[in-house]
Amino acid sequence: MPDVVRLLTDLVRLPSVNPMGRPLTGPEYLESRVTDYLCGMLTEHDIPHERVDVAPQRANVLARLEGTPGAPTVVLDAHQDTVPVDGMVIPPFDAVIENGRLYGRGACDVKGGLAAMLAAFLRLAAERPKRCATVVVSFTCDEEATSLGIYHLTRSWTDPATRYRLLPTPPDIAIVAEPTSLDAVVAHRGAVRWQLSTTGRACHSSRPDEGVNAIYRMAEVLRHLQAYAEELPTSRPAHPLCGPTTLSVGIITGGISVNAVPDRCTIEIDRRVIPGERREDVIPEVAKYLSDKLPFAVEHSDPFVFSPPLGDELNGAWADKLLTSIAPVTGPKQKIGVAYGTHASRFAVVGVPAVVFGPGDIAQAHTKDEWIDVGQLQAAAECYHRFCIDVAG
Ligand SMILES: [Zn+2]
Repeated sequence: MPDVVRLLTDLVRLPSVNPMGRPLTGPEYLESRVTDYLCGMLTEHDIPHERVDVAPQRANVLARLEGTPGAPTVVLDAHQDTVPVDGMVIPPFDAVIENGRLYGRGACDVKGGLAAMLAAFLRLAAERPKRCATVVVSFTCDEEATSLGIYHLTRSWTDPATRYRLLPTPPDIAIVAEPTSLDAVVAHRGAVRWQLSTTGRACHSSRPDEGVNAIYRMAEVLRHLQAYAEELPTSRPAHPLCGPTTLSVGIITGGISVNAVPDRCTIEIDRRVIPGERREDVIPEVAKYLSDKLPFAVEHSDPFVFSPPLGDELNGAWADKLLTSIAPVTGPKQKIGVAYGTHASRFAVVGVPAVVFGPGDIAQAHTKDEWIDVGQLQAAAECYHRFCIDVAG
């Protein structure tokens, strides 16, 4: 049976970079190499699995082990993709091990967690313990950009056209791999991102009085948005695990040449949503705030990111079970909230309790010298294995 370090070494050596909207100019893009590897590994071990195409060269892979009758169904979910490798100061795909660290793109986020889940799963398949949960691994595509993979899976439970043979109904609990340093993440913020545009009337810049300057209008918008953003954290209670809600403007574009009065200016807004807030309310609330203050109309796009927050109403008891189960391996760990988003909230919005748990520190995710602690990687494989057995009672 392959060990977890071997699996992670193989996975890091198979680039699966998410293009994140870029043209597919390099050989390192998309998940198909990792998908092929996972299917090959499952075939080699004679484990029933399912490859479901979500987009060209992008597929989810599921595999299932039937557990003790009456035991819960546990999904172990990890994404196959990584962020790009620009600016990295280590060879991104060599998987060099040095001083107890394995280096490479995705080592921490989240091929380490994926390898640990796969190792635990292969071990359960080989050992066939007397009591065990029904375990379904879901290796999903496109987490780092538009969440195609997890949408496809969670939507399948209400849409018969995309039914998954190995997971036709929602599981009892999903454990989502992300680098949590083996703490149990039960809450995180969501995000709504959209574009706001001002319009004006273009004319030659030698007679600016004949036009309406969309950039000047945006300046007025920004003044109000900044005031709104400054009030936000104190205008409503912060979440005890996730902190306050926030708003930030990150991009501005407008104008085509210096000698023309611009007729359009656009900004991109990032609004973080805390558990208890509805993401559907975000844009209408900002729109109302601005329309009360401005003497002109602005345009709001549909959101291009619309990820829900994760609250701890559904998953708290499962996280307690997880922490009890893993304590002999990890020592005391805690339930925590984090600032980043994960697949867990996608499970939660369709009613599936989900806990984020995995090896590695989020501080090393997406970095120029990404690495994971090999000891923690091995501990994580042990944790997933224990939990699937302990949860069967
Ligand atoms: Zn990740």
